[in-house]
This record gives sequence, structure tokens and C-alpha cells, in this order.
Amino acid sequence: MRSHLLNDTTAESYRRSVTEGVERVARKLAATRGPFTGVTPADLAPVVDAVDLDRPLGDPSAALDELESVYLRDAVYFHHPRYLGHLNCPVVIPAVLGEAVLSAVNSSLDTWDQSAGGTLIERKLIDWTTGRIGLGPLADGVFTSGGTQSNLQALLLAREEAGSTDLKKLRIFSSECSHFSVQKSAQLLGLGRDAVVAVPVDRNKRMQSVVLAAELEACRAEGLIPMAIVATAGTTDFGSIDPLPEIAALAAEYGAWMHVDAAYGCGLLASRTRRHLLDGIERADSVTVDYHKSFFQPVSSSAVLVRDGATLRHATYHADYLNPLPQALGFARAGGTPSTLAEQIPNQVDKSLQTTRRFDALKLWMTLRVMGADGIGELFDEVCDLAAEGHALLTADPRYEVVVEPQLSTLVYRYVPEAAASPADVDRANLHARKALFASGEAVVAGTKVDGRQYLKFTLLNPETTPADIAAVLDLIAGHAEQYLGENLVHAAS
Ligand SMILES: *Cc1c(COP(=O)(O)O)cnc(C)c1O
Repeated sequence: MRSHLLNDTTAESYRRSVTEGVERVARKLAATRGPFTGVTPADLAPVVDAVDLDRPLGDPSAALDELESVYLRDAVYFHHPRYLGHLNCPVVIPAVLGEAVLSAVNSSLDTWDQSAGGTLIERKLIDWTTGRIGLGPLADGVFTSGGTQSNLQALLLAREEAGSTDLKKLRIFSSECSHFSVQKSAQLLGLGRDAVVAVPVDRNKRMQSVVLAAELEACRAEGLIPMAIVATAGTTDFGSIDPLPEIAALAAEYGAWMHVDAAYGCGLLASRTRRHLLDGIERADSVTVDYHKSFFQPVSSSAVLVRDGATLRHATYHADYLNPLPQALGFARAGGTPSTLAEQIPNQVDKSLQTTRRFDALKLWMTLRVMGADGIGELFDEVCDLAAEGHALLTADPRYEVVVEPQLSTLVYRYVPEAAASPADVDRANLHARKALFASGEAVVAGTKVDGRQYLKFTLLNPETTPADIAAVLDLIAGHAEQYLGENLVHAAS
């Protein structure tokens, strides 16, 4: 079994296995005819069930053969131009190369003595990101598993900085379109059930700062504590960007921590033409970025950034075996202050909620070294331009109703029949169209609700998608919806 361990003696087997895996994926990418095959859980479950995990195949080629039927054949492929579903991106090759290197070397970024240069690379990318945001000289941060974790950590820091012993008094303000991880974080942080105040949005789905101001005033009047304001820079559904400068001013006025959830909108940091959409983000106390959304990185790759690196101490714990206090190492006696000496051993675990942690930063590093930030920004600009074209198509199409003009790259719309139909029928027709399209495998779109009604959503993150793809998918959707309504009429008549 030692022949399966990756080391100096198994280099040849490593090369062969990985090359074979790469070869199969490359062939797969070239052969996919749609983003999905339409397989159902009922079709696929028996195939996976039939694998006997206690009878290993012993050979990577055989395992790859099997993988074809249990996974590769029916996977959902984000590189396909008609995958228009969730916030998943096609990935850039330098990042995939980084992924292959990081998992083979397997550094763990919790401590210097498990990563060495990896720690410095991560730190440099954090500095690069805070520089792009404009968070100032004391800024710091750490890579995380995703926006959910970044938001949780940011709100943990905000809670600690609020310095209240009565957690039930703390309030978080975020727009009604903010990500559900805000709510989840409040729960995990032990805040009260009513901790998150949902601030209404305007017709462009941006937080209404006038209402926010009133809510903050009411909070103060009730003797409650405005712990944090979460501004979303790119809401998951609409890509709308809350008014960051107004929110920053209110956060300062009421002494609230300003967190900007730029999980989606962070791609603008690399854009040469749209960076201004994030103006005001430089005033945040903390920022969430998901490189695995708009930087075209493989999952996972995210970071939480803070204006004042010292606040990260709220996530610091010590273990004798891992990152003992500087005093425990005898540094205090050696002269210098413990903190500066601790700083000499750059242990990232001191800043993270995780312990063992992937070297995800390497993917972004390789990307920037090969393509540069402009390369990423251009790709993101392309999908934002595409969304504008898609919006024009939808607006001109009498079969569809579209919700907002996109700031980023999502479109929320729905099919509206020519003939009179009840609102419930229109909802059902749209739901049906989404499901039928998914089952056909020809395209994948997402769905959401707006004011209680069923809508459909394109999340455009693939620069290979063309307006013609969008038009074709709209025809497919209309076809499914019309068919559904047609059959319903038949049923109603009989
Ligand atoms: C996707 C998203 C998140 C959650 O990020 P994950 O990486 O999926 O954990 C948080 N906020 C916003 C606005 C998002 O779009």
C-alpha cells in the first residue's frame, strides 16, 4: 500500500495518475453537449449505491473508469455557456494549476512551521486585497472557506468590539436582500432572535439608507446597541450594491461596525472600468470577498479583511502544541515586546476560525502571476456587459418581465403569458419551465421569489456565454412555460 503514498519514490505513479485524471477531465470538458445530462437522483442513487467501498479497485485507472459513471458523466458543468444558474464560475487554468500544486504539497496554513512560504504568500495576497479595497496601513485579514465563514468571522469581531455583556441588546442591520449567512451568524453568535433588522430596499434592490437611519435612531431610542451594519456589495439575487458612502456615514454616526459583504461584487476590485461601483468600501471595518465567485477561482477561495488588524485577536486562542504565547516560548526574556516577537513567527491560525487550513491563496497567486488583476477584471467586465445585453433582450421581449437593471451580472425575470392566467398559474408555469429545462440538460437557470411571486434568474459568470445563448435559453423557457399552460388549460376544460 505504500506505493500509493506520494513521495520521492512514487513520482512516476503520481505523474501517471494525475496526467490520466487531467486527460479525462480535458476530454470531458470538450465532449459536454450541455451543462447537465438531466439525470435524476433516482437514476443516479443506485449507481452510487452499487459501489462497494470495502472492495477497493487498487488501481487509479479503474477508479477513474468508475468515476465516469458515478460522477463525471452527469456532473453539472459550469464551463458550459448555458450554465446560467447559481453564483458558480468557470475556473481559470492558472488557479487549477495552483490547486494541483497545493494539494500535492499539502501545506497547512495554520502555522509557519506547517507552511513557511505559503504563509508569506497568503499574507501578501491579503495585503494586495486590502490595498485594492483601500483599507489603510493597519489592515489585515485571512483566507476562509467561503463568504459564509467570512461573514461569521466579521460579525464575531463586531460583536466583541461592541463590548456589551448583554447579547440580547445587540442589533445587526442589513438589507432585506442580504445573504442568509448574516442571520445564521447572528444565531451562532448567541444574539437574540430579533438581532437582525431587515432594512427595506428601493426598487433597484439597494438598501434604503433613509430607512436605515430611522432604524438606527429607533434602536438607540430603545436603549439597544447597533452592533453592525452589513452592506451588501452585490446581492446574491440581484447583484445590487447598497449605497456604501451613506452607510459608512451612518455607521460612523451611530458607532456601528461597518461590514461590507462583497462576496459577489469583489470582482470589481480588479475591474478597470467598474471599480467606482465599490466607492465607499474603503470605509468598512471588515469586508468579505469570495474569489471563488467573481475571480474565477475554484472552490474554496475567500477572505475576510479588516481595517484594524488588531481586531483579529478576538479569534486568537493558544495551544501549547501549536502557537504558544510568546511568554511561554521565553521570548519576553529575550528582549522586545511579546507582540512584536510573536509577529516574528507569522502564525495565521491566530487570525482564523479554522485550524488546519488549505493553502487556497496559491490559486489566486498563480492567477495573478499569470494573468494579472486586469485579466481577471476583464473577464468580470465581460459578464457584466453580457448582463446588460441580456437585460436589453428581456426588456424588448413581450414574453418576459424583468425586475431590475443589473449592476453586476445577474438577471431576475419571469415568463408572462399573453393570455390571461392567474398569478398562481404564472408562478407554476415559471417553476415548471425551470424544472423542465434542468431535466432536459440543455441549460441550467436558477429561480427566486420577488414579492412572493416565482421568478427565474440568470447568474452570468461565464464570458463564453453569448447574447445568442441567452436568447436561445429564453426561447426554451418560453416553450416549456407555454406547454405547461397549454396542458393546464386542457385539464381545466376537461
Ligand atoms: C455567496 C454569498 C455568500 C456566501 O458565500 P459562500 O462562499 O457560499 O459561503 C455570502 N454573501 C453573499 C452576498 C453571497 O453572494
